Amino acid sequence: MDIWSKKKRSAVMARIKSKDTKPEKIVRRYLYSKGYRYRKNVKNLPGSPDIVLRKYGVAIFVHGCFWHGHSIDGHIPLSNSDYWRNKIERNKERDELNKRKLLNMGWAVIVVWECQLKRSKREQTLREMEYYINKSYLERLKIKDSKFHLLPENKDYINLVAEEEVTYVKKNKK
Ligand SMILES: [Zn+2]
Repeated sequence: MDIWSKKKRSAVMARIKSKDTKPEKIVRRYLYSKGYRYRKNVKNLPGSPDIVLRKYGVAIFVHGCFWHGHSIDGHIPLSNSDYWRNKIERNKERDELNKRKLLNMGWAVIVVWECQLKRSKREQTLREMEYYINKSYLERLKIKDSKFHLLPENKDYINLVAEEEVTYVKKNKK
């Protein structure tokens, strides 16, 4: 049973997909405060990355866990679950394709998940992101300097909270 009318559903979806969502603002504010300059919602790149640091060769996506199907916490609503499952699967496939396209174009891609911006994890996530931005930048310089123009092997996008990489078990002591 679908308890949402079409109208209600599109209103909800519009809200979920809206630009300048709060998690994006958190990331942008942090980058700005650290002196990074960026463009946002860059439409001429695959997937319109939320944040693009051209100088660093880095594209950042800030993903909502529900909408982009974060397997840790992106649970499917019980009501009308087939609809949502298909929708989210398509989103995940599209995300993956866009990341691959960006990587092939020579961008480093960072995915920041919404749940990693909760207060308890925020600082660590943002620092980690900054670390990868600088790492990508240094790798880029190395590539430019190399007369062979080799790309590093196993170059893959950076998923800040890939399931196997979650190691934030320590709680901050107050
Ligand atoms: Zn999540």
